[in-house]
Amino acid sequence: MRNRTCLTLLGVLTAATALAQTEPQKSPPLATVTPPPNVQTAGKVPAEKSPPPLTSPVAQTQGEITTSTPEDKNPLPPFDTANMDTSVKPCDDFFLYANGGWIKRTPIPPEYSRWGSFNQLIEKNNDALHHVAERAEKETTATDPDAKKVGDYYASGMEEAKIEVAHARPLADELKRIDGVKDRNDVLKEIAHLHTLGVTSLFGFTSGQDDKNSTMVIAQAYQGGLGLPDRDYYTKTDDDSKKLRDQYVQHVTKMLTLLGEEPKAAGEHAKKILAFETSLAQASRTKVELRDPQKNYNKMKTSALQALTPDFKWDAYFKETKLPDPGELNVGQPDFFKGANKVFASTPTDIWKEYFRWHLVHATAEELSADFVNENFNFYETTLRGTKQIKPRWKRVVASTDSSIGEALGKLYVADYFPPESKARMLDLVNNLRSALADRIKTLEWMDDATKEAALKKLAAFTVKIGYPDKWRDYSALQIDRGPFVLNAIRASIFDVHRELNKIGKPVDRSEWGMTPPTVNAYYNPKLNEIVFPAGILQPPFFNPKADDAVNYGGIGAVIGHEMTHGFDDQGRQFDEVGNLRDWWTPESAAKFKERSGAVVKQYSEYEPLPGLHVNGELTQGENIADIGGVKIAYAALQKALAGKPQEKIDGFTPEQRFFLGFAQIWRSVQRDEDLKLRLNTDPHSPARYRVNGPLSDSVEFQKAFNLPDNCPMVRQADKKVNIW
Ligand SMILES: [Zn+2]
Repeated sequence: MRNRTCLTLLGVLTAATALAQTEPQKSPPLATVTPPPNVQTAGKVPAEKSPPPLTSPVAQTQGEITTSTPEDKNPLPPFDTANMDTSVKPCDDFFLYANGGWIKRTPIPPEYSRWGSFNQLIEKNNDALHHVAERAEKETTATDPDAKKVGDYYASGMEEAKIEVAHARPLADELKRIDGVKDRNDVLKEIAHLHTLGVTSLFGFTSGQDDKNSTMVIAQAYQGGLGLPDRDYYTKTDDDSKKLRDQYVQHVTKMLTLLGEEPKAAGEHAKKILAFETSLAQASRTKVELRDPQKNYNKMKTSALQALTPDFKWDAYFKETKLPDPGELNVGQPDFFKGANKVFASTPTDIWKEYFRWHLVHATAEELSADFVNENFNFYETTLRGTKQIKPRWKRVVASTDSSIGEALGKLYVADYFPPESKARMLDLVNNLRSALADRIKTLEWMDDATKEAALKKLAAFTVKIGYPDKWRDYSALQIDRGPFVLNAIRASIFDVHRELNKIGKPVDRSEWGMTPPTVNAYYNPKLNEIVFPAGILQPPFFNPKADDAVNYGGIGAVIGHEMTHGFDDQGRQFDEVGNLRDWWTPESAAKFKERSGAVVKQYSEYEPLPGLHVNGELTQGENIADIGGVKIAYAALQKALAGKPQEKIDGFTPEQRFFLGFAQIWRSVQRDEDLKLRLNTDPHSPARYRVNGPLSDSVEFQKAFNLPDNCPMVRQADKKVNIW
């Protein structure tokens, strides 16, 4: 199933999306069920699938992929002088100075729209997961029920011949239901039914922590219903956007044709689907508007929601989803629901049926036969991201397994691939970073004492999760078998929807994870005030216990600092130490914060990665604040770690220089223009080059480490330097 929640790299379960992550290794939402703003949605991380196959255990120029074994004899080096381009001066462009050599010799693998150290590690983890899944597949007598599920799920996905013969037949019951829709009551029931399957339809509905009562889970209704990556794709009027909408219509036409419609009729239907989705898009908030947690918190009685949407009968909706009326709920975007009500009431039943068919096949395309898979790839990967070649089946099935039953797969993965000593070493690092950030808060020149005290209280209350959950998800109620692949995916999605809805009205379970253990990413979740580091990222080049402190602090140290800073970015700062949306700032300190975050917006808005296309400084401000703060705090922690130790040069560089070089090399990447454009439109993270050059040009420590004069492009003038955390 196309994933319902989309996360980006080193993120936050941010207030507005889901997690604030370090960096978007994951694709931004393509199939849009917009994750509920302000709702933590666990799991279901979309696969921006994997890098190219291994060639040899020695680092190769193309992918520099190394084989993955529990011993890991060939870890990616945390810092490698061969990646540098010393013809570029650190004063001019530090990203290229640190990474230019690697960039010059590294083509983008055809399976990728972007390729960098995150993807290299994802690819390495893929090999581990492949091994784990194949072993489970062969153990047909497995007594561990989770291993059996992994084996059966993977086996069903690898049955290529059966999947081809079956074509769309496994969807027959669902398609028949849609054929049977006769009137508006049936339309409402079908919307509800598709929601129980996890399929996009009109709006989103799930559970989530009550932002103002962090102990309880409440129902959450939020905008959604789209098939393009964001509402702006429907509303922009430039030529590129118009062309893309034409291509979307062609894609929807082809998918409906594959379901058996005549091409001409399918073409007409696709146009109507675009018009239908456009009216939803027009009622939707922009990604920037979704960043405001206060604006997206509108708790009301269900009777008030009913008054907003007079034509949509919520009692019938709850009945169909087998939910008791929750009594009250958060309606993320009330204006959207007013708009959706109009769309609901005015759209003819026949168009609804086409819309349902389209989203059903869209959600399940990746688990159907090759004609569906390829058409889906052509639009969502090639057209939207520039990816040239689909990944081999096993990688796609591993990604699907991770998305559907990720904690079952992850349990097997960590047993073989996560050394327990990593956890202890990480805890040390986190504590050092925490103490560096505490020092920094205490000496902040712009914050008053009362706010400092509250900030320190919040920092001390951070929960730290490392590696994998203490309590694994219980999949015993989920049926997985070696029958049709797509039905396994649908059942897993139904299970997940049910698991989420079942939380409504219950206390928050603070032990849950929002990412699966093999994920190469990390996040801060403001609602639980926690920082989370899955096992997948706790490996070289980010984290290498055998490497010197400088490069570890520049790698995983900066990642930890980034996630901690999310607790104090433009969104995270609005939540208190237990995760309540509550203003703990004095007005004076809040005003000073806003002045400084405004400077971050301004700085990044000036960057122009493609001609005429700038970084969206508003959309990316939280991540940029976290990047700037992360590297600063990690540097301070390194200074503490180095105190009293002999400071030796390695590879001709001081520890301070290696710190910044290691940091820059984490972000090495090559990217297709299509992917860059998509991310500039949708991704809350800045492009890699600016994730390096942005924070470093604000850093006096960086300037000092490389002895740069004041008039360098990499050195912002003192009055323009941003300094928050
Ligand atoms: Zn982040």
